[in-house]
Amino acid sequence: MSIFEYLHVVLYHSGFVCYNTACFGMKLSYFMKGWHNMSLVTTTEMFKKAYNGGYAVGAFNVNNMEIVQGITEAAGELKSPVILQVSKGARAYANHTYLVKLVEAAVAENPDIPIALHLDHGDTFELCKSCIDGGFTSVMIDASSKPYEENVALTKQVVEYAHAHGVVVEAELGTLAGIEDEVVVEAGHESYTRPEEVEDFVSKTGCDSLAIAIGTSHGAYKFTAAQCTRNADGVLVPPPLRFDVLEECIKRLPGFPIVLHGSSSVPQEFVKMVNQYGGNMPDAVGIPEEQLRKAAQLAVCKINIDSDIRLAMTGTIRKYFAEHPDHFDPRQYLKPARQAVKDMVAHKIKNVLGSDGKA
Ligand SMILES: [Zn+2]
Repeated sequence: MSIFEYLHVVLYHSGFVCYNTACFGMKLSYFMKGWHNMSLVTTTEMFKKAYNGGYAVGAFNVNNMEIVQGITEAAGELKSPVILQVSKGARAYANHTYLVKLVEAAVAENPDIPIALHLDHGDTFELCKSCIDGGFTSVMIDASSKPYEENVALTKQVVEYAHAHGVVVEAELGTLAGIEDEVVVEAGHESYTRPEEVEDFVSKTGCDSLAIAIGTSHGAYKFTAAQCTRNADGVLVPPPLRFDVLEECIKRLPGFPIVLHGSSSVPQEFVKMVNQYGGNMPDAVGIPEEQLRKAAQLAVCKINIDSDIRLAMTGTIRKYFAEHPDHFDPRQYLKPARQAVKDMVAHKIKNVLGSDGKA
């Protein structure tokens, strides 16, 4: 150690101002990060601004480091609020602590944007409680498949515990078709939200936001070919969302944030990429982005997107493997996969959600 390095260490640790550029930069960035609120936030403020601003906040599912990084790098660069959500399946896959710590790292790296950590499709009080106790700022209790009164009772129980701990709650009325982790609803067993129930449900439960069913669906196969028409290119076109149901809900719940699940658009360029490089995803179909854009301009404050990220990653990795059969370092294919996540999220923020510059 040179005398200058020695003096630097002594001065730095004794709290003197240090004129070493790297050190000054470090102190400045530490100060800047400390200046901002460097912790997870709830969705309360996000939704208020989104409702009034005519845009929605993206809720993206996270399972591993590359997905967390891809999403938050896009949101950070575009100055967009973002919700990172964890399903029961993600928690079983990656472990609660790993996911929370990955998200905390993303918060530290992106101190200028609000980030919420949300439980997607909590199905029991115990699961919600475990996430509330374990650092989440928002939970969903999905009792939508239960009879109405049971949905009310369970949601109310979660709301009471969550609110006592500074955590917000999303609930659901109506059921979506499709497959999401362990939630499987056969096509034909879905049901649109009944607008005449929403006021009673929200006032009885005290929930902070409400997921409604207006024709979105979970997974990459949202509709059967029989439910769709085909466009000139032979690509399936799904039935349009039920904006009449959404508008009726808005009328009955003025100012209240609405959530849309199952809102991936399943971009055909990535379906093609998967199929071109050895995959087999015939007739994968999603929700057209212009319909989601319209919903975002109305009372929809949170739009859930998962399948599009999976598709972007898988297409990119399949292509990489096909083009580089000799590579075997996971960093080689996870790097472009992470970039594909980032590009997908940036596209959603700018062109679907409209949340860029709203941090
Ligand atoms: Zn969902």
